[in-house]
Amino acid sequence: MHNLTIAEISRKLQAKEFSSEEITRYFLDRIKQQDPTYNCYVTVTEELAMAQAKAADARLAAGNAPTMCGVPFAHKDIFCTNGVKTTCGSKMLDNFVPPYNATVVENYINEGAVMLGKTNMDEFAMGSSNETSYFGPVKNPWDTNCVPGGSSGGSAAAVAARMAPGATATDTGGSIRQPAALCGITGIKPTYGRVSRWGMIAFASSLDQAGVMARSAEDAAIMLNVMAGYDNKDSTCIDEPVPDYTANLGDSLAGVTIGVPKEYFEVGLNPGTEARVQDAIKQYETAGAKIKSISLPHSHLAVPAYYVIAPAECSANLSRFDGVRYGHRCDDPKDLMDLYKRSRGEGFGEEVKRRILVGTYCLSAGYYDAYYGKSQQVRRLIKQDFVDAFKEVDVIMGPTAPSPAFAFGSKGDDPVAMYLEDIYTIATNLAGLPGMSVPCGLVDNKPVGLQLIGNFFAESKLLNLAHQFQLATDFHTLAPSSLA
Ligand code: GLN
Repeated sequence: MHNLTIAEISRKLQAKEFSSEEITRYFLDRIKQQDPTYNCYVTVTEELAMAQAKAADARLAAGNAPTMCGVPFAHKDIFCTNGVKTTCGSKMLDNFVPPYNATVVENYINEGAVMLGKTNMDEFAMGSSNETSYFGPVKNPWDTNCVPGGSSGGSAAAVAARMAPGATATDTGGSIRQPAALCGITGIKPTYGRVSRWGMIAFASSLDQAGVMARSAEDAAIMLNVMAGYDNKDSTCIDEPVPDYTANLGDSLAGVTIGVPKEYFEVGLNPGTEARVQDAIKQYETAGAKIKSISLPHSHLAVPAYYVIAPAECSANLSRFDGVRYGHRCDDPKDLMDLYKRSRGEGFGEEVKRRILVGTYCLSAGYYDAYYGKSQQVRRLIKQDFVDAFKEVDVIMGPTAPSPAFAFGSKGDDPVAMYLEDIYTIATNLAGLPGMSVPCGLVDNKPVGLQLIGNFFAESKLLNLAHQFQLATDFHTLAPSSLA
C-alpha cells in the first residue's frame, strides 16, 4: 500500500477499493513503525487524521469528491495549523499552537485531504542538512549515516521512506529541490507568488515559496493544483489564473529547447553526479528535445548575494520572537532587556543566531549600501541572465546539488561548505523562477537530482517535462533497499 502514488490512491478511493480511514490508518501505523529510525515527523496528528479521513469517506460516498479527497499527506512544520503545534524546527516555537491555518493548510482542508502530521526541518528553514533542527536530525532513508538535505528534510525523507505519499515543503534557496535530490524524490518550487505565504512562518520573505514533494511529477501536479492560487491575505501573491497542472502532462518533447548552462558544470561538481545529469539531458535529446549550451554569467554571485539578502530579511522577520507575544520565554527575567536576551539566547540555535547577526550587520547604517544594496543590484543581474536565457530556450537543466547525500557532521564546522550545497538552486529564488528536481540515477547507491528551471509561471511545462522523463525512465520508482 505504501508504494501507491497519490494518483493511484485517489483512483482507488474514488473506486471504493479501500476507504480513506483504511489508508490513513495504514500510514499512521507505518509511521509508528518506521519513524523512530528516520525522525521525519515532529508531530503525528493521529486523531485529527482519522477524523479527517472519516469526513473524507463521507464526501467520497456522496460522489464528486476532489482528487485529493481522502488522500493522506504531511505538512512541513513551517505551516501554521490551527490547534496543532507548529515549531518551525525551533525550541523558540516548541510550545506554539497557532489559532489559525495557513492558506496552504486551509486549501488542503477544503480539498478533503488528510494530514498525517508535521514534518521535521532545519530550524526556521535555515540549512541544507536538517542538522539544525531542535528536534534532532532526520536520517536519509538511502543511507542513515547521511543527511536527507534541508531544510525540508523531514518532508523529503518521509516521502522517500513511504511514510507519506506526498508532503508540502518550502524553498528559500533550495530547500525543496536539494532534499528532493538527496532523497531520490520529485520536488517543485513554483514561481514566487504562485502559492500563498500567509501563515507560513517567514524566513526571507522575498525568497520563500511553498511547493511540493512527491514521488512523481504527476503527483506533484495533483498537489500543486490544491495549493496554487491567489490569496488576498498575501500581498506578494500573484493574481494569475491557475491552470490544471495535470492537463498538459501528455505534451510531447518535440520542439522543446533545453538550455544547459556551462557554469553549472564547472569546479565543485561531483563527477558521478555530472555523469547522471548529462545522461538525463541526453535522454531528453533522444526523446526529441534540442539541447543548447548557454551561459548564466552571474551564477557565481548567487550564493554571496543570497547570504546577505536572506540573513538580512531573516533578522527582520525573526525580531518578532521576543519572548513577549509568543514562543519561548526565559524563566524569571530580571527586567525587559534580560527577558529579550535570555528568551532569544535560549530559544534560537546556533545557525539562526549566526544569520541574525550577519543580517543585522548588513542592514545597519553605514553598511546597508555596501552589502544589502549591492546584493539587490547583483540579484537584478542574476535575474537578467535568466530573462536573456529564456529568450532562446524553453527550460534550463543542470544538477540540483553538487553531490549526493553527505555524512552527518561532515560540513558541521564549515558554514560556507554547507552554503555551497545550494550553489545551483539559489539563483532561481533570487530571480523568482520556478524550479524542480527529479531523480536521475544513483551514485554509490545514493540518488542524484536533475534540476529543471522554467520561466515565470512555467510550472505546467516543468511538470510535463519531468513527467515525460519519468515515462521513459524508472529512476523515480527506485526505493532505498533498506525499506521495509
Ligand atoms: N540552504 C539554504 C539556507 O540555508 C536554503 C534554505 C531554504 O531554502 N529554506 O538558507
